[in-house]
Amino acid sequence: MYSFNYVKPGSLKEVNDFLASNPEARPLAGGMTLIPTLKARLAQPSHLVDISALEELKGIEVRNGALVIGAGTTHAEVARSTHVRDAIPALAELAFHIGDPAVRNCGTIGGSVANNDPAADYPAGVLALGATVVTNRREIAADDFFQGMFTTALEPGELVVRISFPKPRRAAYEKFAHPASGYAMTGVFVAQTNGGIRVAVTGAGPGVFRWSEAEAALAKAFNVAAVASLTMPAADLNEDIHGSREYRANLVRVLTKRAVARLAGR
Ligand SMILES: Cc1cc2nc3c(=O)[nH]c(=O)nc-3n(C[C@H](O)[C@H](O)[C@H](O)COP(=O)(O)OP(=O)(O)OC[C@H]3O[C@@H](n4cnc5c(N)ncnc54)[C@H](O)[C@@H]3O)c2cc1C
Repeated sequence: MYSFNYVKPGSLKEVNDFLASNPEARPLAGGMTLIPTLKARLAQPSHLVDISALEELKGIEVRNGALVIGAGTTHAEVARSTHVRDAIPALAELAFHIGDPAVRNCGTIGGSVANNDPAADYPAGVLALGATVVTNRREIAADDFFQGMFTTALEPGELVVRISFPKPRRAAYEKFAHPASGYAMTGVFVAQTNGGIRVAVTGAGPGVFRWSEAEAALAKAFNVAAVASLTMPAADLNEDIHGSREYRANLVRVLTKRAVARLAGR
């Protein structure tokens, strides 16, 4: 681990001011990803800016019909929230299946979307639900936020403050978890929103993406048969010791079918 300084500002304004004047500083939320990254010497921030206790980043509420989750809300808090379970049960379920209890009790939704690990679960939910990421500077639509492996629209010093999810008509998330870490080998989030059907895939490719072919097929007929005959092209998918491209392409189709099967009965 390289040496760094540690600061713990008492307010969001102080965090913003500090990040603005220290371009090499990094926010520290749950530390579930950042601390191992530092241990592996894969990052060398000048300062860790501890945002884990900031009340302004916490909380879950329903505002103007949308579910609004503070960036500092842990996965465990999302999983057990009655607001989330009532408004978007699939999101509570997604959070419940992240990692293990230690990860769920420390890791935050803001840290997860800011990190944009290609195998993380939240990016699929945020993208499929057409959520809006609210930062300390602006509002970013999910379609513009995720920009590939560990890359987002966030600029230096920009902090995720909260995420606003419009309530879908119905939604389901299916994941094939890596048996050791819990990360998604592949995960598919299917949402029927007021703007149409949205299908987001995580784990299979270099970053979360929408499966437009499945969306078009489901818009014509929302049933398992509509996606059963589709084929996900494997060429651009991930391949590693855990699974080939073709294996992941098949997982995308199978998990999409499972999600639709769950929803078609509702
Ligand atoms: C063993 C293990 C298993 C896991 N399994 C899964 C899994 O199954 N599914 C899954 O999705 N994830 C999994 N994770 C990752 C976990 O969800 C992390 O909690 C998450 O990726 C990062 O959240 P964090 O709050 O810990 O962020 P941190 O580690 O503190 O930060 C991560 C990055 O985001 C930045 N950041 C943090 N908060 C903000 C903010 N509000 N605004 C801007 N930037 C910010 C940090 O500077 C850093 O670059 C696992 C992690 C571990 C260690």
